[in-house]
Amino acid sequence: MSDANCLFCRIARRAVPADIVAETDGLLAVTDINPQAPTHLLIIPTEHIPTLADVSESHTPLLGRAVHFANRLARERRLTEHGYRLVVNCGAAAGQSVWHLHWHLLGGRPMTWPPG
Ligand code: 5GP
Ligand code: ZN
Repeated sequence: MSDANCLFCRIARRAVPADIVAETDGLLAVTDINPQAPTHLLIIPTEHIPTLADVSESHTPLLGRAVHFANRLARERRLTEHGYRLVVNCGAAAGQSVWHLHWHLLGGRPMTWPPG
């Protein structure tokens, strides 16, 4: 459930300081330490799931809650009108660097696709 050496498990346990902006059932939203947009939040499950590829059927409610949580945070930050991005990097080649599932919520500037 929790990995003692995992940064995001440690943030969830409040063993590492982070700017936790919101919390809901089994999920935290924290400000990214190296923001790539005016709004850059990380949606982090409190359960240790290493990557998106590790989710199972049992995680279906958690995944739904994560999307609703992200949408609520986007609405509260007035991102809905101009659009926002909700991203999961799965695996090193996709840019994953912290091995604990998380969504990036990005908004507040124009974005191109594909990202660099
Ligand atoms: P990934 O590359 O795994 O998709 O995303 C990891 C994200 O975690 C990066 O955007 C990085 O800036 C962020 N990050 C890394 N270390 C910390 C930290 O100690 N605190 C916070 N709040 N974010 C972090
Ligand atoms: Zn973890």
